[in-house]
Amino acid sequence: PPDVVPQAPEDPLFGLMAAYRADPFDKKVDLGIGAYRDNDAKPWVLPVVKKILRNDPALNHEYLPISGLESFTSAAAKLILGADSPALLEKRAHSIQTISGTGAVHLGALFLKRFYPGQPSVYFSSPTWANHNQIFSNIGIPIQTYPYFSKATKGLDFDGMKQAIAAAPDRSIILLHACAHNPTGVDPTQDQWRELAALLKQKSHFPFFDCAYQGFASGDLARDAWAIRYFVSQGFELCIAQSFAKNFGLYGERAGAFHFVTGPSPDAAKTISRIGSQLQQLQRSEISNPPAYGARIASLILNDATLFAEWEANLREMSGRIISMRQALRARLEELGTPGTWNHITDQIGMFSFTGLSETQVRELRDVAHVYMTKNGRISMAGLNTHNLEYFARAVDRVVRG
Ligand code: PMP
Repeated sequence: PPDVVPQAPEDPLFGLMAAYRADPFDKKVDLGIGAYRDNDAKPWVLPVVKKILRNDPALNHEYLPISGLESFTSAAAKLILGADSPALLEKRAHSIQTISGTGAVHLGALFLKRFYPGQPSVYFSSPTWANHNQIFSNIGIPIQTYPYFSKATKGLDFDGMKQAIAAAPDRSIILLHACAHNPTGVDPTQDQWRELAALLKQKSHFPFFDCAYQGFASGDLARDAWAIRYFVSQGFELCIAQSFAKNFGLYGERAGAFHFVTGPSPDAAKTISRIGSQLQQLQRSEISNPPAYGARIASLILNDATLFAEWEANLREMSGRIISMRQALRARLEELGTPGTWNHITDQIGMFSFTGLSETQVRELRDVAHVYMTKNGRISMAGLNTHNLEYFARAVDRVVRG
């Protein structure tokens, strides 16, 4: 019958992008999608990536293996775990190339649904990246949340987070953002990560790290991977979804990886081989094999010391511009005397700031000032630049004063 398929709601973020594009106003501001923009609000092809594209030696269009490009996945594993990771030295990690970070979260969820004993729930931070909900509910893993963001301090609700994780049934799956939490820009400190690791250990929970912003949070790749490396050093069995969309500017190329690390044990090599075989079988039926182009670009850069250093400089340029926009926005709102406190804008890190603006204020900013942001008050800091910052600050000042 014609009416069996109901209309699905439009994706809020992609809907926002479409509305922005359709708006003819010349001073419109796009603070919606988490994609880096240069100071002229243009997408930025990283100079090191541009160079690779020009010099691409013998490009062909053959299939990759089911697990993807080995030179890419092995370099991706070193990047996130550290070259001297016990998991790599003891060969108890399995890495597989995925359709960017989304595909890695999906493959991980699918694997856990099939093989994790006891059909546990997954616990997400409240709030989290909206797609986490869709991916895990499509796969049929029950979803619970833990408190994360304190409205009062616009920082971490660490006590609430710990209480919920402590109250979760043993052996639950706990989804953690490795760095630059989306949407809040609020991360635990290293001491808080240590406490969380002890708590997860005590509860035998399974950490599922989502890492979409390595190098974006601090401009330092190792520092942004600290939490994951710490958990691995504590002997956890865990998994990691890794995206190269933001840190290589390869959004549309869908370059990513999924890593499974099993804990140290005499049988670890056999365990990881079985896990790897199942991941490959799932991958074959899901996507057959992953896309080649972005992985080749990332692999060339990750495996060459000179290109790697250039990439790090490009990363520092992006994270540095974002940090300078944070400083400028906070300073301007404070100069204007905009009611409220604005220190959270510089305290928060990574791509986003959770401004604390209400849904009504967000609506008003869009209707009156043509400023586009998600209704939870999140702004993509990379959408700000020296040309539109004053306009945006004044618009915020107006709506906050009401
Ligand atoms: N996880 C989080 C928390 C994200 O913010 C993103 C990007 N918006 C992703 C995963 C994955 O993005 P992609 O599939 O483009 O790599």
